[in-house]
Amino acid sequence: MLTDQQRREQIAANLAAVRERIAAAAARAGRPPSEITLVAVTKTYPASDVLHLAALGVADVGENRDQEAAPKAAETAAAGVDLRWHFIGQLQRNKARSVASYAAMVHSVDSVRLATALAGAAQRAAEEGRPGPLDALVQISVDGAAERGGALAVGEDPDRALLRVAQAVAASPALRLRGVMAVAPLDWAPERAFAEVARCAALIRAEHPDATVVSAGMSDDLDEAVACGATHVRIGSALLGMRPPLR
Ligand SMILES: *Cc1c(COP(=O)(O)O)cnc(C)c1O
Repeated sequence: MLTDQQRREQIAANLAAVRERIAAAAARAGRPPSEITLVAVTKTYPASDVLHLAALGVADVGENRDQEAAPKAAETAAAGVDLRWHFIGQLQRNKARSVASYAAMVHSVDSVRLATALAGAAQRAAEEGRPGPLDALVQISVDGAAERGGALAVGEDPDRALLRVAQAVAASPALRLRGVMAVAPLDWAPERAFAEVARCAALIRAEHPDATVVSAGMSDDLDEAVACGATHVRIGSALLGMRPPLR
C-alpha cells in the first residue's frame, strides 16, 4: 500500500507525462495545447484520488456510472473542492435526474428519447437551483454497431439518427448542445476512427455552429485523437493505473 503522499506523487508523475503527451501531440498538429481539455477518468478509483487530482490542478473529472459518480461528487463537494463532473458512460433514462444534479457535461446522449429525458431532468435541476444549462454531447457510433450505443450517421432508426439527436438537445432550453463524443472501436485504426468522428462533428456543426467540442481519445489513442481535432481527451489508466476488470 502506498501512503497518501506516495500516491499523490505517483499521480503527479503520471499527470506530468499525460500533459507532456497532449502538448507534443498538439505541437505536431500545429494546435495550441490550451485547446485541449484533459478530463481525468476516475471510475473504479476512490474519491481520495479525485482529491489528489484536484490538488494537482485538474478541474475536469469523468465517471461512467451514476452509482459511483454521485457519491464521489458529493464527497468532493463536501470537502469544498470545486470540479466539473463529466458523465461519459451509457446513461439510463431513470438516472438522468441524478446525473443532472451534479454533472457539468453529459458526453453520451445517443437517442432522441434520452435527450428528451435529460432535458426534463435538467429543467427540474434548474428549478432546484442548478446554475445554467447542462452541457451535452451527442455520442457517435463510429462503426454503426447498434448494440454498443451511439447515434448513427446513417440508418433507419429515427430515434438514433445523429442530426435528430442533436436537434433534440438543441431544442431544450435546459440543455446546451456543445458537440460530439466517440470511442474508437477496438478493431479500427485510430486515425480512421477519429477521421470519421471529425466528419460527423462537421455535419452537426453545419447546423449548430456553437457545437465545437470533440470528446475523443483515451489513454491509448489520445495522440491520434488530438491530431484529428479532439478538444477533450478522457484519460483514465494513464493517470491512475490499470483498472481491475469491471465486475
Ligand atoms: C474508461 C473510459 C475512458 C478512459 O479510458 P482509459 O483507457 O483508462 O484512458 C474514456 N472514455 C470512456 C467512455 C470510458 O468509459
